[in-house]
Amino acid sequence: MTKLNHKKSCSLLNIHAVIPVSCVNGPGARAVVWTQGCSQQCPGCSNPLTHSHNPKILIDPEELARYILAIPGIEGLTVSGGEPFEQASAVSRLCHAVRKDSLSVMVFTGWTYENICQCHTRAVRNLLQQIDILVDGPFIQNLADKSLLWRGSRNQQIWFLTNRYDPDVLQDNTQSQVEGQLVSEVPLQITGFPEEADIVVLAHRLSVESGVILEPSSENN
Ligand code: SF4
Repeated sequence: MTKLNHKKSCSLLNIHAVIPVSCVNGPGARAVVWTQGCSQQCPGCSNPLTHSHNPKILIDPEELARYILAIPGIEGLTVSGGEPFEQASAVSRLCHAVRKDSLSVMVFTGWTYENICQCHTRAVRNLLQQIDILVDGPFIQNLADKSLLWRGSRNQQIWFLTNRYDPDVLQDNTQSQVEGQLVSEVPLQITGFPEEADIVVLAHRLSVESGVILEPSSENN
């Protein structure tokens, strides 16, 4: 069994980024929080800047929940990574606070559902109880499949842990797989499951429609 790396519980959440509204990270319009820190280092991971455990943005989970609950028109919160279960206590508090106000919760994890169920720490159990949809498993490069909804590789599975969503939502082929957003004070966020061609199209549209020229990131992991 894969060894799980559950960091000591900490009252603050270390996050990489937040997008107030996304339509490619789960059903409907959702706020997305990327946690900072992942121990798995999967080759080909699309979010390598989230691997470092150094503090990026430290925030009180309830304060972040208040920010998310004030966003109009969203039906839920998606937590991605980094590895949300490495900060299970703080992520659980965030999810609990938004669910109390009836937002749904979706979580992407590199841990498998089986491993999570075998992990008996209170924080991990509490987080699992807050989740409506779980997308599990590490990204495995030689199982990569761009046709999958909300997943990057075929080993990853979608688990409907509550009755909030009908699994038929997976048949909705109108759902986009990638979007780009310009959010003030942060670099361009390209989210979803982009292929290189998607990024070229986004770069072209940004240049033609907004005069924004994309440059390679100089940020190191
Ligand atoms: S578990 Fe997820 S965030 Fe972590 S390295 Fe693998 S794909 Fe990247």
